[in-house]
Amino acid sequence: MTVATATYKNLIGGEWVDSSDGATFEVKDPANGELLGVFPESTREDVDRAVAAARGAYDKWRLMPAPHRGEILYKAAEIMVERKEDLAREMTREMGKVLAETRGDVQEAIDMLYYMGGEGRRMFGEVVPSELPDKMALSTRLPVGVVGAITPWNFPIAIPSWKLAPALICGNTVVFKPAEDTPILSLRLVEILIEAGLPKGVVNVVFGHGAVAGDAIVKHADVDLITFTGSTATGKAITKGAAEDLKRVSLELGGKNVIIVHEDADLDLAVEGIVWSAFGTSGQRCTAASRIVIHEKVYDEVAKRVVAAAEALTLGHGLEDGTDVGPVINQKQLDRISSYRAIGEADGATLLTGGERATEGDLADGFFYKPTVWGNVSPKARIAQEEIFGPVTALIKVSSFDEAIAVANDTTYGLSSSIFTKDVNLAFKAMRDLYTGITYINAGTTGAEIQLPFGGTKGTGNGHRDAGTAALDVYTEWKALYIDFSGKIQKAQIDELTF
Ligand code: ADP
Repeated sequence: MTVATATYKNLIGGEWVDSSDGATFEVKDPANGELLGVFPESTREDVDRAVAAARGAYDKWRLMPAPHRGEILYKAAEIMVERKEDLAREMTREMGKVLAETRGDVQEAIDMLYYMGGEGRRMFGEVVPSELPDKMALSTRLPVGVVGAITPWNFPIAIPSWKLAPALICGNTVVFKPAEDTPILSLRLVEILIEAGLPKGVVNVVFGHGAVAGDAIVKHADVDLITFTGSTATGKAITKGAAEDLKRVSLELGGKNVIIVHEDADLDLAVEGIVWSAFGTSGQRCTAASRIVIHEKVYDEVAKRVVAAAEALTLGHGLEDGTDVGPVINQKQLDRISSYRAIGEADGATLLTGGERATEGDLADGFFYKPTVWGNVSPKARIAQEEIFGPVTALIKVSSFDEAIAVANDTTYGLSSSIFTKDVNLAFKAMRDLYTGITYINAGTTGAEIQLPFGGTKGTGNGHRDAGTAALDVYTEWKALYIDFSGKIQKAQIDELTF
């Protein structure tokens, strides 16, 4: 593996190019500040060129039979399998999470490429009976056109694959702006797609920041669809920006995910699930468990065990053996997470452990924050309502199953939820009544598989889903086809038929 500091370029129409004004930005290892790469800071002009390239490549790509597009994705998956370890190591340096998790991130991209590759030979439509004789009625999918893909830093290759793989299999071309904190792994995905045979101009990459490059994609008149994962505030800005042209916008935004621990739960399982869901990826997953709603009969025991488990976690560089939790992504996030200490105190919650930056030894060189557990949190407290996106979780005490469900649903978000219980009736009620896009039974709030829809209700999105066949609905337009072989002009709803 080579991760020497390198200077990278945009990819436009198959050519590697600098930004139009030569400006650049740096990417550093969040665990120790080491410089990893220098990237073009793209301008509106760069975006214009990228969109023109995507449009230019569109007709040829959409007319390539979908099974052949699928073979390119399949080949990309095969290449990624071979490079998995190198990619995971490079991702840990760029993004910070531990190696086991970056391996999982790469695996998710592999899974998605294989899965969407297979869609090249499925992509089912419907064939339905016609109400008229000698007439056929069916539906098929058309690509939408040029897709603008804007991605966050927490899953540096998985999330880009969730966007690019379905967009491509459906016959769209893409202008891709990766997160400014993790452009290296996004680039690796695109390099692999090219190696697998992706034609020039089908995916174009403009590196840079949201306010200029991202905004230019969102507002470009020749971009047909925006697919975005990131913060709720940015999702709202994108929705407004895209409204002028009535672009289709698919959003996957924040969460305030909940684990319910019922009184009959297997507490060993529950605690393990809580610790993994709350502190894995330093709490920087959209599905991280930031609220733990616990029945009063087991509250003290769960609180004691979660605190002990949090304190036993080892912080460090994600490449070091024995590290459980890596850094958070950048100074801005560290400041944001830190600001919730005073907010939690003002809300009257009890800080049970953590609540501060970790600065022992080498940790001082990176953005490390101690796994943090708040106790006796009111369901309405800001730390129980706002997405913190760090290794911070809030314990909330309830006295019944019904109260637990009500508290769980009392948030503006609706991504992931879970319940630990041995009662099958309660498990089914929870599956029905938890108003989230994902619910786990006897597991934490993370661990989605790519063959099912991923996304949430309420403020988590706008009704679309990544992954699974649901993703095909984002990247295609339905077309209804009527084929009349009667030799007459027949009129649906009007002709009187005699049989
Ligand atoms: P975070 O950095 O907290 O994950 P953001 O939602 O700000 O959340 O960033 C996610 C992605 O959205 C990044 O690629 C970022 O550059 C991009 N982005 C930020 N602001 C805008 C914007 N106004 N328009 C388009 N893209 C944006």
